[in-house]
Amino acid sequence: MDRQGPPQRRFGPAAGDQLLGAVAGRSSFSTSLAAELTEALAGGQLALEFQTERRIAGALGRSGTIRSVEALVRWRHPSRGLVRPADFLPIAEESDLVERIGMWVLGEATARASVWQTSDPSLLGLSLSINMSAAELRRPHLVEHVLALLGEKAMAAESLTVEFQEDAVAADSRTAIDALRALREAQVRTSLDDCIAGPDLEQRLRRLPLDAIKIHPSMVAALGTAPGDASMRAMVVLARGLGLTTVAEGVETREQLARLRSLGCEFAQGYLYGKPLGASGISALLRAERRRRSDKSVTPSPG
Ligand code: C2E
Ligand code: MG
Ligand code: MG
Repeated sequence: MDRQGPPQRRFGPAAGDQLLGAVAGRSSFSTSLAAELTEALAGGQLALEFQTERRIAGALGRSGTIRSVEALVRWRHPSRGLVRPADFLPIAEESDLVERIGMWVLGEATARASVWQTSDPSLLGLSLSINMSAAELRRPHLVEHVLALLGEKAMAAESLTVEFQEDAVAADSRTAIDALRALREAQVRTSLDDCIAGPDLEQRLRRLPLDAIKIHPSMVAALGTAPGDASMRAMVVLARGLGLTTVAEGVETREQLARLRSLGCEFAQGYLYGKPLGASGISALLRAERRRRSDKSVTPSPG
């Protein structure tokens, strides 16, 4: 498999590129943004959006059943509008702010998910995915904190997935890998985000305590070409051989979905099924999904 370039933290144009550009050249700007972010955390300006992940394999996969929701943090900035994580998490990562934001995300997301799970017996199996950065994974007592929170919310550990990127477990990563291992031992699931093909992929995957991989959107975008299909097929076969679940990210077209199904990928996430939504939007979507499932006469969703 050919390496297709370094994993990207995000894809598509970002509204706040100027913000980061400015930060790179002006540390005082960065300092003031960090101060604003501290206020944002205290002042309720952070919010979560959620995006669904759908089953695409097997009988249930034909109608794209929702298996889980991924929590994605946003900053509702009073003058800049909605700021995406790629434009403020790097600033937060320069201090302990990233850990505080992470703890807020975890608390808020588990609170929402436990309400969804308990509001309807058919949603008891709904999973929640949370993204964690290197600093969060290295935080002392992370595992105890996560397990205490799950206990408080009466959530099963296996209904939480912690997503992390490979750079979070690169250099000086013993603590992060130990935390992931301890989470898995407690039945919390782990997933390698933005996973991309490469000649050393098997070794990279084998050294990590993992349940799933999320396949980078650039690999989904390359589907429909011979090398793109071959690369995806090899990745899915490798993951299956290692006992890992496969989730394709950034799925935008029916053609990509059909190709992923034929290549044996099990789950998909992307704009084809919908953009991330606020908590109330997702609540409505989950209700609609329940109605759709109980009404067999309704046509299945995309694909
Ligand atoms: P990610 O975890 O890989 O999340 C997927 C990103 O792709 C999200 O961007 C989502 O809005 C976007 N996306 C989903 N489907 C599509 C699609 O079909 N097309 C396109 N063009 N984009 C799609 P978002 O929300 O801006 O998040 C970017 C990254 O920021 C995330 O990538 C994740 O690495 C990080 N992030 C988000 N929330 C958190 C958080 O609470 N904590 C940490 N540590 N990182 C977070
Ligand atoms: Mg993610
Ligand atoms: Mg990703």
